[in-house]
Amino acid sequence: MNILVTGAAGYIGSHAVKALLSAGHRVVALDNLSRGHRVSIADDAHFVELDVRDTAAVLGVLRAEHIECVMHFAAFAYVGESVENPLLYYDNNTGGTLSLLRAVEQSECRRLVFSSTCATYGEPDSMPIREETAQNPINPYGASKLFSERMIRELSRKLPSFSCALLRYFNVAGVAADGTLGEHHDPETHLIPVVLQAALGVREKVVVFGDDYPTPDGTCIRDYIHVEDLVEAHIAVMEALRPGDLRVYNLGIGRGYSVKEILDAARSVVRRPFTVETGPRRPGDPPVLFADASRVSREIGWKAKRTDISATIESAWRWFQTHPMGYRD
Ligand code: UDP
Repeated sequence: MNILVTGAAGYIGSHAVKALLSAGHRVVALDNLSRGHRVSIADDAHFVELDVRDTAAVLGVLRAEHIECVMHFAAFAYVGESVENPLLYYDNNTGGTLSLLRAVEQSECRRLVFSSTCATYGEPDSMPIREETAQNPINPYGASKLFSERMIRELSRKLPSFSCALLRYFNVAGVAADGTLGEHHDPETHLIPVVLQAALGVREKVVVFGDDYPTPDGTCIRDYIHVEDLVEAHIAVMEALRPGDLRVYNLGIGRGYSVKEILDAARSVVRRPFTVETGPRRPGDPPVLFADASRVSREIGWKAKRTDISATIESAWRWFQTHPMGYRD
């Protein structure tokens, strides 16, 4: 298939490009390079430097490249930043999706796989989170993605031949096993990279954001899915889409690890000391989030394979050791 990947220079987008090429698809990789890394886009993809908010230019690409499916990753994804600058998130994430959908509507492309998030659920009362769980986002990031989901739903109602998947990710972690790709955010705020940077000495310490949560060890529990499993799920879902489909799937491993459990697993991987301090809670962090990901396994036959958290951390550790400053190295 001819596939347009937006946000192709980002952490997940770059892994998706690589997996799509290995699966035999033709990839047009689109990114405005505002936060992504050009070097992370596989050479076999055709790179287009473009902002998804440029509707006319995106339409031009969809037509010229005979795109059959769009995988839409382009977005900002910092909860804290979204609270400080909500309009940036509605502009880039919701506005970006609106622009892309306008282009798709005018093109021949009738398949879309959308990068959504468990942040659209907010703080649910019960775990695990199912796709039917009410969506009540508690920050602009989650809301910007929920609005995008709604626009996609509306468009799919209007276009009978359209098919789409809304994929709600939990915590994505790890990097490509062959060492060709990494994870580089600026600033880095995600737990596993932060821990590995502390172990490498490029960061002074790890601060645990609260140890007084109502969980067995007092720290927050999250569902960490390996990025290679995540992108394989995208391909399996994309290939299963039929005209008229609107599929919604949680992508997680279906169990949670606490911050302390991640620290213990990381210690056994890195085998060197690093400083850990306990700090105050980070605003907006729900105590426990993990997925019921049984629907995607039932309907598509996809299930996470890389569920050993130490192996996930190990994959990232191999990359960080050679790239302590990320793609700058
Ligand atoms: N966390 C932490 N210290 C850090 C970064 C994260 O204690 O330096 C915690 C955070 O409070 C959350 C979990 O680790 O409970 C995962 O956070 P991350 O930012 O990786 O992902 P999020 O769950 O926010 O998407």
